Amino acid sequence: MGVIEKYAHLLPVTEKTPRITLGEGSTPLVHVDNISKLLGIELWAKLEGCNPSGSFKDRGMVMAVAKALEDGAKALVCASTGNTSASAAAYAAAAGVPCYVLLPAGKVALGKLAQALMYGATVVAVKGNFDRALEMARSAAESKGFAIVNSVNPYRLWGQRSGAWEICEALGRVPDWHAIPVGNAGNISAYWAGYKQYKEIGRIDRLQRMMGFQAAGAAPLVTGKPCPNPETVATAIRIGNPVSAHLAKEAVAQSSGEFNSVTDEEILAAQKLLSSKGGLFAEPASCAPLAGLIKLKNEGRLPAGITVTMILTGNGLKDPDTAMSQVGRPIEIGDNIDELLEVMRG
Ligand SMILES: *Cc1c(COP(=O)(O)O)cnc(C)c1O
Repeated sequence: MGVIEKYAHLLPVTEKTPRITLGEGSTPLVHVDNISKLLGIELWAKLEGCNPSGSFKDRGMVMAVAKALEDGAKALVCASTGNTSASAAAYAAAAGVPCYVLLPAGKVALGKLAQALMYGATVVAVKGNFDRALEMARSAAESKGFAIVNSVNPYRLWGQRSGAWEICEALGRVPDWHAIPVGNAGNISAYWAGYKQYKEIGRIDRLQRMMGFQAAGAAPLVTGKPCPNPETVATAIRIGNPVSAHLAKEAVAQSSGEFNSVTDEEILAAQKLLSSKGGLFAEPASCAPLAGLIKLKNEGRLPAGITVTMILTGNGLKDPDTAMSQVGRPIEIGDNIDELLEVMRG
């Protein structure tokens, strides 16, 4: 069952909203044993890379596309750091509507670009950063009368609330901390809204701290001012002027949470640790929360024994180039068993 059908009673859907799905949502929440021990906490990872297009964007996209179809939209438009375009292109393909995606030229991970093209979207590379591409997408959507499916589309954040509901259901309670990467700041806002909605209807009895992590080179919510030239290896959060900044600030303030930033080195080290000690391969942006938890631990600011959920927002396969830049190459041998045994000696 997809997000719309499973949570129709909690979402702004009508009988006319098409129950489209590609099988999004219901992703695993797994206890990360080795890293929990390392950090002295109970660490749970929500595997959003298991969504059909490989990132959490599918939860909101299914809602945005369903509502656009309900309203008779002729085409979809979005600007994207990569995963929004992959997701929009997938749902557009299945729905049989054209999709136009604007990407910052040269700044999108290879897997995401391959996806958007394979799903058949019209892909436009803009010589400018994401923030500029979004302005252009909004103005083009308006003049053509097409549906914009960026997170300025309120249905995106509605669908993304489902992640919070699933966590409450899986844990049987709320975590102490919710650790999440922050780019355009939609997801942290959606999770907070989802947790609050569950508290209002009595499904949980308290709320947790919202801990938002940005990349040091694109950290407007940490520095308190827009970042005109965002730069980070974590391309999914390479955003200088987050559209949902006001909602994210509210989430952090109301939950006594915090924004923090981590360097690219810390992000890549966390990505390697998560893969090699946790068996979980997530894209760089998804590893900002783990990098942040390690940073807080080193500063003596990570309370022992707390339960933390971290959202692994996108699949590691999305960005093979960054992964390959951090690891060695395979050991090459001839067609010869002795050479193989030699490798295994040691
Ligand atoms: C979109 C995205 C983010 C950032 O989410 P926002 O809602 O823009 O803050 C983080 N990680 C991945 C993998 C993403 O695709």
